[in-house]
Amino acid sequence: MPELPEVETVRRGLEPWVVGKKIKKIEVVHKGGNRSNTFAPFSAVEGAKVRNMRRRGKFLWFEVNRNLGLVAHLGMSGQFIIQERKAPDEKHLRVRIDCGDRRRELRFIDQRTFGWVAIDQLVQEEGLEIPTSFARIARDIFDSQFDREKVIERIMKKRSPIKPVLLDQSVMSGVGNIYADEALWLAAIHPERLANTLKRSEIEDLLSSVKEVMSAALKQGGTSFDDLYINVNGESGYFDVELEAYAQDGEPCSRCGTEIRRIAFGNRSSHFCPRCQPRRVAKKVGVKRGK
Ligand SMILES: [Zn+2]
Repeated sequence: MPELPEVETVRRGLEPWVVGKKIKKIEVVHKGGNRSNTFAPFSAVEGAKVRNMRRRGKFLWFEVNRNLGLVAHLGMSGQFIIQERKAPDEKHLRVRIDCGDRRRELRFIDQRTFGWVAIDQLVQEEGLEIPTSFARIARDIFDSQFDREKVIERIMKKRSPIKPVLLDQSVMSGVGNIYADEALWLAAIHPERLANTLKRSEIEDLLSSVKEVMSAALKQGGTSFDDLYINVNGESGYFDVELEAYAQDGEPCSRCGTEIRRIAFGNRSSHFCPRCQPRRVAKKVGVKRGK
């Protein structure tokens, strides 16, 4: 499933192509591509000019010069492709966006139909008009207005294990299963430790780790990326990131050599090093200071 780095790479790819263009026509090729509770028909943004290409967490927003937003979510396997107009429709083509380009058009393709494109109502947030999809989720760690202190406070109050807290898009957005496992490994925190038992310094470390693993992934995406073909593929299109914990069960931990373990987490899994990420933090033996 695409997480923040993958969605950000899509945004960066779309930006130079769509900003400044007019949305001429949006065609729903397959109704699965449109969210059922879309605020208005797509015709409501036809003729509008794209001002900005924005992202919050895993949501994309085509900001247009209308009182409406065109929002997209890639779901499990959604892709945006800037495709030649004359190219035959892809098997899983859901939505076609004509931006008036003579040669190319934007296509939203999704094999598993969890992704969508929809018209969203705008709401006020801190003096800005943003889509309702954005308002429901917290700012992500790359947002210029990300409030680190506030997020630390939110985490410290949670009585649940830290892993689901990291995935909670109302605490901080953009983190999914892969980067949660990677960040917890890097910060040496067991995924099942209760958030409210973590020390402030551990949470600070964890947030830095989240940023670090995602930055590394973004860097990968940025280099292997062709600006005419924007592709996020949930199965195989993951950036070739060196993973340390996620799906590494049975492999030796690169820090200590202990086998990475996998434990059930809801209907998914958590991967961690039982040695570097102990469930119970050993009490520090009092060290006698010198006289
Ligand atoms: Zn280890």
